[in-house]
Amino acid sequence: MRWSNLLGFNKKCMHDNVPIDADYYYCPDCGELIENQWYLVRCASCGLKEIATIKNGQIIPANPFCHNCGAKGYIVERIEKIDCININYAVLVKQIVRNETDDYTQSWVDAMQTSNWQPKLLK
Ligand SMILES: [Zn+2]
Ligand SMILES: [Zn+2]
Repeated sequence: MRWSNLLGFNKKCMHDNVPIDADYYYCPDCGELIENQWYLVRCASCGLKEIATIKNGQIIPANPFCHNCGAKGYIVERIEKIDCININYAVLVKQIVRNETDDYTQSWVDAMQTSNWQPKLLK
């Protein structure tokens, strides 16, 4: 899941000194490139903005029910820019930006080559 990955990144450094109004910023504490990602939560039924919070690495509404229509369902949406209205609702995820494409491709190839799995049904 994506959100548990986000939580994993935050274990060591919370990047507290990254200014929240920057899109990208090198964390002065750990040196990682941080992208500020803002997320809003809306009611899935009526579309009302809910106050978002992060719990166990998941972005969820602070209230278990929509205070407008009572529905439990919600939608998480990413917003590109924070403004003075949405900042009261949105949560900020300080996401480490890494280019891991090469590593990922390499380990995938290794896993395929070292696999001794045989398609038994085709024998
Ligand atoms: Zn940091
Ligand atoms: Zn609602």
